[in-house]
Amino acid sequence: MKNIKTVLCFIFIVLLCLNKPVVLAETATDKQVITANITAPPVCTDNKISTRQSVNEIKITSDLPLSHIYIVYWDTPVDFTLQSPGVEVAEKGEFLHRLIELPPELKTQKEITVKFEKTANISEISAYNNPPGNKQNWQPNNTEADLLLFSTHADDEQLFFAGTLPKYALDNETEVQVVYFTDHNNNILRRHELLDGLWAVGVRRYPVISFLPDAYSESYEGAVANLKKAGFSEEDALNFQIEQIRKFKPLVILGHDLKGEYGHGQHILNSNLLTQAVIKANDSAAHPNSFELYGLWDTPKLYLHLYKENQIVLDLDTEIEGLNKTPFQISKEGFACHGTQQGTWFKTWLNGKEGEITKATQITKYAPGVFGLYRTTVGADILKTDLFENVTKRSLIPPPEPEQPEQPQNTTENNSFWQISLVFVLIAVVSLVGLFVFKKIKSK
Ligand SMILES: [Zn+2]
Repeated sequence: MKNIKTVLCFIFIVLLCLNKPVVLAETATDKQVITANITAPPVCTDNKISTRQSVNEIKITSDLPLSHIYIVYWDTPVDFTLQSPGVEVAEKGEFLHRLIELPPELKTQKEITVKFEKTANISEISAYNNPPGNKQNWQPNNTEADLLLFSTHADDEQLFFAGTLPKYALDNETEVQVVYFTDHNNNILRRHELLDGLWAVGVRRYPVISFLPDAYSESYEGAVANLKKAGFSEEDALNFQIEQIRKFKPLVILGHDLKGEYGHGQHILNSNLLTQAVIKANDSAAHPNSFELYGLWDTPKLYLHLYKENQIVLDLDTEIEGLNKTPFQISKEGFACHGTQQGTWFKTWLNGKEGEITKATQITKYAPGVFGLYRTTVGADILKTDLFENVTKRSLIPPPEPEQPEQPQNTTENNSFWQISLVFVLIAVVSLVGLFVFKKIKSK
């Protein structure tokens, strides 16, 4: 009896020990509990992006080994090193919202110093013992993309292109890249809203944001004049677009309405320049710098929002399998991330006064999902339901057959040559012998 009690006790203790890490993992993953102590100014851990401080280093200590660090820079990512006694690992700043999975040599550490290469403006920093499920883990934008969307401002991608980004970004087969024609350097919060919104609709490739400032006008000329005031030219803007097209080599480009939807000069400039950029990207005389870097590219399809010819209408109101939401509804969530824009007429345009707009098809003015095929190298659309009609996304192209090992050259031919030669030699020998015997007989 005593033995049975001892065994049961032992099993109970073992079960307790086995259970411990499981409980910790659940806590950390589900509730995002931060067990680390962070030696940083309080504004860097107050969960408010707008409050920030310049720092050179931040020390993190934890009772458990650390696995991830999440940094939100205010305006510019800064490179840094992760330091622990005896270990130092260099990391790129790379993204405004940066999740770092600690390298193996640091995963056993309970004390890590983040040392920035130069003074960094930090909005938020947090650290984890397990992978945090609710943080943005951006992928670099250094490979080719299937769909390239040229949004003008941070929010146009969720408004006039509502539904389109989630429709393709969440289909597990389309590489989606978003490029912004303007940078909201006069309102830094919008850069963060832009990232939060893209992440919410399933985009995982880090966006490209141009160097052109945001400025209001109501015409192409007005937008060019604003560029000039800021020290940039029409050509700078065109070259920016050419470079993006050559870099990402898209199968499909999506651009704004040539009339700029509600007539915003920068929308008009963006879409009109795009019709030139798509041609010039395939012309070696245009923008030599990006030609040298990326070569030429002839984009198979360019669609413009609301363009009257060769129109297609995307279905944005059918639920995405497994998500119980439509692409349009997901874009509404994306737009909700744009806190600074919630007081504008866009909110009513997208949602209705009382939230009565629940489908993309309810919007008739500047209707999202209505695009015209402005230029094609692969023929006209017949079915008119998919931007990728007549082109094959890269993920769907079967990998090339592995090359067969090279056969020794002309083995068969060589064999036949020797066989034939042997026959001839044998015939010659037999003939000679025959002749010799014949002569012998004859001489007798
Ligand atoms: Zn806009």
